[in-house]
Amino acid sequence: MRVMRKEATPKRQNIFTETMETFHRAADLIGMHPRVRLELEEPDFEHIFYVTLDLRDRLVALPETDEEAARFKDLPSSSVKAGEALEPLANGDFVLHRRALLNADITVREGVIRIGSRGLFRMVKGEPRKFKAYRIQHNQVRGPYKGGVRFHKDVSLDLFKTLAAEMTWKTAIVDIPFGGAKGGIRIDPQAYSKEEMEHLTLRYVYKLKNLMGPFLDIPAPDVNTNAQIMAMMMRQYTDGERFRHALRGVVTGKDVRIGGSEGRLKATGQGVVYCIEEWARDKGFQLRGARVLVQGFGNVGSSAAEILAGMGAKIVAVNDANGTIHRDEGIDVAALIRYVHENPENLKKTVLGFPGATPISRADFWKVDADIAVPAALGGEIDGNVAETIRVKLVVEGANGPTTPDGDRVLAARKIELIPDIIANAGGVTVSYYEWLQNQRMEHWTEQEVNSRLERAIKSNLAVIRDIARDKPAKTASHDSRPFCIGKAVDMRTAAMVLALKRIEAHYLLEGFSQ
Ligand code: NAD
Repeated sequence: MRVMRKEATPKRQNIFTETMETFHRAADLIGMHPRVRLELEEPDFEHIFYVTLDLRDRLVALPETDEEAARFKDLPSSSVKAGEALEPLANGDFVLHRRALLNADITVREGVIRIGSRGLFRMVKGEPRKFKAYRIQHNQVRGPYKGGVRFHKDVSLDLFKTLAAEMTWKTAIVDIPFGGAKGGIRIDPQAYSKEEMEHLTLRYVYKLKNLMGPFLDIPAPDVNTNAQIMAMMMRQYTDGERFRHALRGVVTGKDVRIGGSEGRLKATGQGVVYCIEEWARDKGFQLRGARVLVQGFGNVGSSAAEILAGMGAKIVAVNDANGTIHRDEGIDVAALIRYVHENPENLKKTVLGFPGATPISRADFWKVDADIAVPAALGGEIDGNVAETIRVKLVVEGANGPTTPDGDRVLAARKIELIPDIIANAGGVTVSYYEWLQNQRMEHWTEQEVNSRLERAIKSNLAVIRDIARDKPAKTASHDSRPFCIGKAVDMRTAAMVLALKRIEAHYLLEGFSQ
């Protein structure tokens, strides 16, 4: 039974209210205690703040096609001897370090300069700038808040509320003692230098310091953040603290050399693959030779692709923010990883231009004939239209929220199976927990130890979710779904939420409420 709401006017739908539909559906199905529902339907805390940054001087590209550029046609080229003092940015601009002027032969007119074959640039003086930052702490009944930090131009309060809530469900599903949080900064990282991003990261931690901690809120990498950013966050948080080594677990996703866990880098992709393996085992489907579409070739997409290719699957098409590539016989994933991630000239880290495959359009990507699709980019990609065109048997959500409610309905109508994000991409946070445990114990586990624990956590909980979905309560040596089945069959997304909510609700029911 749905709790009666006081508001007379219906709320406008946004990404948060839309994704919370699954929560309400599952809460109805388990007859959730009304007060627990109120506790969970909004975050505990929504922190919105600003971080400021001193920008460096820049050379901002002035395309020759620009009307203004015509006035500088005859501007002689300047020669900058210290080439490395012009630091290229992924958006085509340059950071202009002062040493670029040493021994240089420069002609500047009205602030415009021509640099050899690179073209015309406007010199723009560095200035302070402010950026909106967020940390949403959704729920901590099962343990400290836990969730990634995203640096992206399209983030919003509703998006972070959605992602923070998803972390609460996810940590419950893999049964680790954490709650849910998410945060980040509204910024286009492609327009800023490494040093500027570092300063911004440090400032973010400076502002958040009182709200985070190994037993309070534990950030991790997400879109456009990585092990290096985590290292800086840890240093900023722990520097000067008397027991700083006891605080290592304040962030996860660190480099293994500074307290990170073996297997963490690939953990989310590995978790995606454990889900696929378990699905294939259940269906008697042969993964060797299986055809796979991968959207997003960042941390999650490239790891999942690499592991699947290692198992003999064929990655037939890859799409990212800048392009799409296709090769019917299967793309050489190791070569693609070298091209995207180990190639300093590929500033955008894109698959576009990879010589071992054919470029195709983004629309055609979803039409490529395959067995499995792994969306591992951003949310909202598989909408009703894409779901109509996609030709696969299984969608495994590597990304958070890649399928819209419309997409869900169409996939279900077309009998395309789905493994929802809150289990499919839970590998990252699971190994984050192992990293946190190793930090508390000052231990270092082997990759094999990490992966065998991860495999058990993902496969046994996926089996519970499948039993809930089919309403087939069972107890085996590795899982027990009897306490979670609800007496009727439901879709996989609802089943996953049922598992999460039953585990979370138990805390409130057994512990009661502080008054
Ligand atoms: P990443 O920054 O390493 O890579 C993101 C990839 O998505 C890049 O290849 C980028 O080009 C691509 N992309 C961005 N916008 C796109 C668009 N509009 N169309 C197509 N491709 C686009 O990020 P990541 O860490 O791999 O995360 C990917 C997704 O997985 C996100 O939804 C994230 O929330 C989710 N996730 C990540 C982790 C983790 O451990 N990294 C854990 C759980 C969930």
